[in-house]
Amino acid sequence: MLGSTMFGNHTLYVLVALTFLPWLAMAENSVIDPQQNSPNKALSSELSHELDNIDAEFLPVQSSTQSPSQSSIQPITPSSTQSSARPTAQSTTQPLPPEGIPPLQTEPVNQDAAEVIEPLVVTPVDLSESRIKKKAILIGIDGVQFEKIKEHETPNFDRLMIRKAYTGGINHFASEQSTNSGPGWATTLTGVWSNKHKIKSNNANRANDEFPSIFKRIHQLNDTLTMASIMHWNLPSEVFFKRDMIHVNRVESNLTDAIATKTAIEEIQKGTEFILVQLNNVDYAGQQYGYGENYKKQLRNADQQLGKILDAIEQSSQTSSSEWLAIITTDHGRDKSGASHSKQTAMEKTVFIGVNRPLNEEFTKPLLTANSDFDNMYSHPAQTAITPTLLAWLGLPIDPFWLFESPPLIGELTIRKLMPDTHMTLRWQSEYEGKAEIYKNKTLVATIKATEGQWQDPNPPENDPVDYIVVIGEQGLAYRTKDYRGIRKLLKWQALERLRKALNIPL
Ligand SMILES: [Zn+2]
Repeated sequence: MLGSTMFGNHTLYVLVALTFLPWLAMAENSVIDPQQNSPNKALSSELSHELDNIDAEFLPVQSSTQSPSQSSIQPITPSSTQSSARPTAQSTTQPLPPEGIPPLQTEPVNQDAAEVIEPLVVTPVDLSESRIKKKAILIGIDGVQFEKIKEHETPNFDRLMIRKAYTGGINHFASEQSTNSGPGWATTLTGVWSNKHKIKSNNANRANDEFPSIFKRIHQLNDTLTMASIMHWNLPSEVFFKRDMIHVNRVESNLTDAIATKTAIEEIQKGTEFILVQLNNVDYAGQQYGYGENYKKQLRNADQQLGKILDAIEQSSQTSSSEWLAIITTDHGRDKSGASHSKQTAMEKTVFIGVNRPLNEEFTKPLLTANSDFDNMYSHPAQTAITPTLLAWLGLPIDPFWLFESPPLIGELTIRKLMPDTHMTLRWQSEYEGKAEIYKNKTLVATIKATEGQWQDPNPPENDPVDYIVVIGEQGLAYRTKDYRGIRKLLKWQALERLRKALNIPL
């Protein structure tokens, strides 16, 4: 049995891990501030984090919290008569799940008011005029807790449609990442989680070149588009994606929120086609004082800055035949006090995506997944959706081999919510009446009906991480497995290091 083989191997690793747990616990306790990691602290923190993953990956899935009414869809045996390659939105065909695996729930999650902020105004879409130039602005306001937007008076946030989204990857799986600014921004700007872009803390150096930022993607796809990166925080453009910035017409960092806003407005008026603007004062207020008066004051300030930016794009739409997509987001949530973040808790994983125009169902209709953790948090859009959405809006084609993890929030959807379950069976959701092609490290290994919605690798990986891509129609989503060889290497290094110290052997 595949399952028992995998389990056997991992039991061994867990046993090895347990041998060193006391040492690891000590190492982890020394990491007090995740933003001030020394390399050794970062390493031990990362190792113990990986060990957590090994243990947890084989824990049973939490029982689903959905109501009985949400379980009312009965799986239907797949119809063999439909094989057209054309997607049909009305299709209700569902596969019969294998014995012992519960069927996926495909009904939208009930959206209570707490999870959606409806707009006061939505800019109407007008695609009739081909001379209209598509432009996009990504507005990142760091450290804004989704729930606080509603608690406080934020009239300019209210001009947008704002939905709950999640960061931090999938808890206990390979994509799990710290809910800190560096990983959050790197995910926002690349469309992948930190096991791919490699920005695992704010102390990270350069991001993995295999997963370039949206700036480089745009440049490669259409080098006539003009771009600006206008940030309060400096690390994304000065460190993580420094090399991509040669393609960007204007790069500014270390600006105050007010100057960043003013500079972004200048770029809007100049006709720049893709603008990133980032404000940071809300995050600072949270870190220093938690959710107090200061946080509220800075949230109101940010709301006013947002208002000025939205006014400028509305004016640009009227005066220059430009059609703007404005996306507003944040890099991470915060804990209950508001002062801290970095962990895997529902509040810290909660972010939001706000937009100035209607988007597709990945944005508007949360969809239950096999993983019901954090009260079905993964039913919401992921932070990884932002980059593909911006590319799609700018009319730039997305290659499935870029290993994006979310479909764009614009346009037709043929595949959603690709993620493994606890048996490492790949699961996805699709109503497409055609084939799903499954690639393992870029090699086609299986072709099945898209609506089957699941596939298990008969030869599960045990060493290097493997990239699975499920391509349905024009769209593909990817999942990268754990780096088991890397984990073993670290364990070996730790064992030798412990021995060296015990025997007092100098380096
Ligand atoms: Zn932050």
